[in-house]
Amino acid sequence: MHLAEATWTDVSGDGNADDRADIDVALLPVGSTEQHGPHAPLGTDTLAAETVTARGAAAYDGEVVVAPAIPVGVSEEHRHFAGTLWVSPDTFRAYVRETVESLAAHGWDRVVVVNGHGGNVDALREVCARLTRDGTAYTVPFTWFEAVESSLEMGHAGPMETSLLFATQPELVREGRLEDAAADGAARWGEWEAGVNLAYDSAAFAGNGVVGDPREADEQQGEALLDDAGERLAELVAVVIAREWESGA
Ligand SMILES: [Zn+2]
Repeated sequence: MHLAEATWTDVSGDGNADDRADIDVALLPVGSTEQHGPHAPLGTDTLAAETVTARGAAAYDGEVVVAPAIPVGVSEEHRHFAGTLWVSPDTFRAYVRETVESLAAHGWDRVVVVNGHGGNVDALREVCARLTRDGTAYTVPFTWFEAVESSLEMGHAGPMETSLLFATQPELVREGRLEDAAADGAARWGEWEAGVNLAYDSAAFAGNGVVGDPREADEQQGEALLDDAGERLAELVAVVIAREWESGA
């Protein structure tokens, strides 16, 4: 059940609160609006989070609530590229926390946050721990590209993300720009010395914002990634529901 498409009466079961008990878990997609090179849209991470969430909800053997996606995340590292939006980790954590609190207020106190952006990972881990420890909701973050088994490089706007787009929204990939994307991109994320990444912003090491070679991307690999991510998410949902946790409610 997608909250944005349901009515409140659908959700409440015509006022019978017991119906809500049929739904065990809520999925909350979170993404970003940030540069993804010259060939992929600014909304790539949000689109990926929404698509993986939908695939996981379909693969799961049971009903889940799907919340609308949070579209702006912790992306200041891409601030030099036009169109990138960002919020501070404090604001992001607060927004995720209060959104999960409102899900929990309706009884959905098992929550998987489905993440599409690497820059959100640290803040999500912290806020999900807080919600769990406080007894608000048992909440875990799932970052799709960390969950999948793939030989493709994640990079940034690289083979993995571009493949996913080819499988889900191919019209959003500017194929005529893939050569340029590869030519001006970086081979790896960051500038490293003694185990330290010297660069705080992607513009310092990736002229056009790309890391990895998106010419290695194709639809077939994207489908495989999506299948894998959806299966892994469905498995996680089952474990999250079964896990012992002490509600503070
Ligand atoms: Zn991305």
